Amino acid sequence: MNILFMGPPGAGKGTQAERIVEEFSIPHISTGDAFRLAMKQGTPIGLKAKEYIDQGLLVPDEITNGIVKERLAQDDCANGFLLDGFPRTIQQAEALDAMLQELGRSIDHVVNLSVDRDLLLARLTGRRICKTCGATYHVLFNPPKTEGICDKDGGELYQRSDDSEEKVGTRLDEYTSKTAPLLSFYGDKGLLREVNGEQDINVVTAEIISTLRGSL
Ligand SMILES: [Zn+2]
Repeated sequence: MNILFMGPPGAGKGTQAERIVEEFSIPHISTGDAFRLAMKQGTPIGLKAKEYIDQGLLVPDEITNGIVKERLAQDDCANGFLLDGFPRTIQQAEALDAMLQELGRSIDHVVNLSVDRDLLLARLTGRRICKTCGATYHVLFNPPKTEGICDKDGGELYQRSDDSEEKVGTRLDEYTSKTAPLLSFYGDKGLLREVNGEQDINVVTAEIISTLRGSL
C-alpha cells in the first residue's frame, strides 16, 4: 500500500500518519527524515544535500527528488510506504510518478485531511505560555484554571507572535494555495481520498483505515 498523506497545519496529520503506518506495518517517510538518513549513511546524494544544507542554501528539487527516490528504493518500503510532506509542487509530483515507475510502483491512495479554516485557526492560535516558568497551555485543549494565569505560579500567560491569528492565517493561506493544484492533480487521477479531519481523532483514524481498505 503506497500512500501519500496531505493536510494543512493543525489537521492532526502527524498523529494520524503514526497510526496508519502502525496499522499497515509500513514505514512513515518524511522528507526531513529521509534527508537525515541519507546524510548519516553518507550516500552520494546525501553528501550533495549536506553541502547545500551546511551552506544554508535551499536544496534544489533534483536533490530532494533523488533523496526521496533513494529512500523509496530501500527494503523496508517493499510492502508499501506512507509519504508525508512530499510532493509539495506539481513538478515534484511528476518526478515522484517517474521515480515510482522506474521502481515498478505507483501511488495507491492520496489521503487529504480536510479541516475548516476557522477550526484550524482556533487550534493553531490557542497556545499560551507562562512568562514566569514557560509552561504551555491551550485555550481549547489544555486551559489554565483561571484565564490568562499560570496554574503553577500565577504568572501571566502570553501568545507567541508566531501563533497570532495573522501569522497563522498567512501560513494556512499559503498552504491552501500551494496544495490546491496537487489536490486537482491527484483528483484527476482518481487517487484522492478526502477525509473529514474535524471529527474525533479515533473516528478520523477509523475512517482513513476503512477508506484505505476500500470498504467505503
Ligand atoms: Zn508559570
